[in-house]
Amino acid sequence: AKNTGRDMALFYSAETDQRVQARQTMEQHLRRALERGEMSLHFQPRVAARGGRLLGVEALLRWNSAALGPVPPAEFIPLAEETGLIRALGAWVLEQALLQWAQWQALPVPEGHVVHPLHGIAVSVNLSAAELADDELVPAIEATLRRTRVPAQHLELEITESQLMDNAQAAQSQLAALKALGLQLAIDDFGTGYSSLAYLKRFSIDRLKIDKSFVHDMLHDPADMEITRAIIALGHTLGLRIVAEGVENLATAQVLGALNCEELQGYHFSRPLPAAELQAWAERHAQR
Ligand code: C2E
Ligand code: CA
Ligand code: CA
Repeated sequence: AKNTGRDMALFYSAETDQRVQARQTMEQHLRRALERGEMSLHFQPRVAARGGRLLGVEALLRWNSAALGPVPPAEFIPLAEETGLIRALGAWVLEQALLQWAQWQALPVPEGHVVHPLHGIAVSVNLSAAELADDELVPAIEATLRRTRVPAQHLELEITESQLMDNAQAAQSQLAALKALGLQLAIDDFGTGYSSLAYLKRFSIDRLKIDKSFVHDMLHDPADMEITRAIIALGHTLGLRIVAEGVENLATAQVLGALNCEELQGYHFSRPLPAAELQAWAERHAQR
């Protein structure tokens, strides 16, 4: 028993060492991922709670590493943020999402329809804190919009609540400058941070996305139901549209609709899909 403390210390440091090494390996591969063509985008639909029309898609980054296999965003996005690689990745995501949107606009109208369901939708891109803090962000987005010829109102940027509140003063002016480009802004993961109401009012935002942790269990957890109801009421008081994410079943979708939540996203409608599959989903969905 005398040695336990020291053995534990050795054990932990070996473990820490391994973790540090795994991180370094991942970083090395992440640095090369774009040039090796290992990154791709998936798109998840967002639909109207009333009527079910496709309103937009959220672009979500996927990394299929030749060396490591598929790595989930929850693992590589934080690493990309810490290492500054997120700037290059974020720029790539934005460009690819806008190019994809432009391709969708060129699709022919399916027989028996007036428009293609992908015509005029919005495309949402996630923005990380490091990007939001970057002075070059606004001119870079403006340049990408111009280059891809996508009208700004079809682009939505999602920024998490905690990222906004970490540096609320600076974020406020960045958001105003982004808004001035004509694009849309959403606060992501809403309910998990500590928003000050005063700031919420001052931020030039269009949507609140209720975090999926509340939506997931709301039918079984009265507290989650009440939080969801309160977020919807608060958002409406501020003139915002409300999106619920993580909608996994019809019953949840119906209750959210009854609570006047305008927009829904989640596995119940579709998982995030590669562009071609998303297009097929949209065409099927419009036939229903
Ligand atoms: P997020 O922005 O909150 O994205 C929603 C996440 O929830 C996605 O996970 C999506 O696949 C998942 N999801 C969607 N519907 C459901 C559902 O019904 N149930 C459940 N349980 N999950 C659902 P994903 O794609 O693994 O992304 C995780 C996070 O990684 C994202 O969370 C976002 O914060 C970050 N991320 C992904 N792509 C990008 C990107 O291009 N840039 C930045 N900065 N962050 C990204
Ligand atoms: Ca998001
Ligand atoms: Ca979210």
